[in-house]
Amino acid sequence: MPLAWALLLLLYAKRLAALWHEPVWRVPVLVVESDDWGAGPLDQATALAAIQAVLLRHRDATGQPAKMTLGVILAVVDTATTTASAYQRVVLDDARLAPVLDALRDGIAAGVFVPQLHGMEHYWPPAVLAAAQTDSAVAAWLTGAAWPATEALPSALQSRWIDARVLPSLSLPVAEIDVAAALETATFARIFGQAARVAVPTTFVWNDAVERAWAMHGVRYIVTPGTRHTGRDTVGKPIGDGRLIRNGERSHSGVRYPNGERRNSGIRYLVRDQYFEPALGHDAARGLAALARQTLLGRPTLLETHRFNFIGAPAEVALHALDNLLSQARAAYPTLRFLSTEQIAEAMTHMDSALIETRLCGRLRGWLVRTHTLPRFARLARLTGLALLLWMMQQWTA
Ligand SMILES: [Zn+2]
Repeated sequence: MPLAWALLLLLYAKRLAALWHEPVWRVPVLVVESDDWGAGPLDQATALAAIQAVLLRHRDATGQPAKMTLGVILAVVDTATTTASAYQRVVLDDARLAPVLDALRDGIAAGVFVPQLHGMEHYWPPAVLAAAQTDSAVAAWLTGAAWPATEALPSALQSRWIDARVLPSLSLPVAEIDVAAALETATFARIFGQAARVAVPTTFVWNDAVERAWAMHGVRYIVTPGTRHTGRDTVGKPIGDGRLIRNGERSHSGVRYPNGERRNSGIRYLVRDQYFEPALGHDAARGLAALARQTLLGRPTLLETHRFNFIGAPAEVALHALDNLLSQARAAYPTLRFLSTEQIAEAMTHMDSALIETRLCGRLRGWLVRTHTLPRFARLARLTGLALLLWMMQQWTA
């Protein structure tokens, strides 16, 4: 029996160790992460004001209002001046976009919106310009009506950090990534008066070069879907090495300083793998189920959503679902905390003992629950009798 246990533990050693190193949260945490806001359609202003009103109706046990992080896009094509050979952008602090920026700043001042870097554009401009040569819909997008929605671009072209004019996509030259990252982080700081600390790669496609460039300009945390995609395959599907990413994990990318010294970029990852898209039929119950599951596993709940839910026809349903979700979450979890994603990341980085389990017993309890999420582990543990030992440990730590 002990031999079977040893073999099973050995087989899962890496994954069990990764679960052990992932911080265990002591309190339920909820943050709604909403992408794609910023430079773009002007009706975002009324949508943002309506979301702000809903968020302000809900406070956590410490009096903090509900929070929505906004993955901000800092610029969009200037359709009036862009030509087939020259791309021109409108940046979010252009006077024409004042209603949108005012609504963003209003929510930030009220403590409900927290801006995060989603990208200068939601695409790599040279790739879109090149694609327009052969794709008339893309050409019309670039030079047609003002404030085109990036959601309307072909999916592969919505990835900023690859050249998807052809598929499979091509990597971008590192020097171009460096220049683009420097410009977008400087633009973010100029517009919001604070450095971008959290970045959300568009369509979750990015690589080491992007991490290094962001890190050089103050980005500390990257939001991930629990893995990293680095390109698009022949049919445009995101592809990566498939490696699982855990909350709070450090990136392996290194930074080389001007004096030649190499150091870890210091970037840490967050995992956002729960979804709340009311326009796709996700209701408050679904969000609440995600909160329950994450809380049981000692994890924060980062709920992914997008602006398309809150603009036009779906908006009313989405606002209602958000309001319901927040009401029910507060009722079900009196100790619930509304934290920004950066606050969540900081708590894990510094092992804040008010929020993160630092006692062995609590960590062990979280780890035992998480072992049930490993594929086939629970079944093999039952077959070998290891489950009984784990069950006894669970009773002891309860
Ligand atoms: Zn996006």
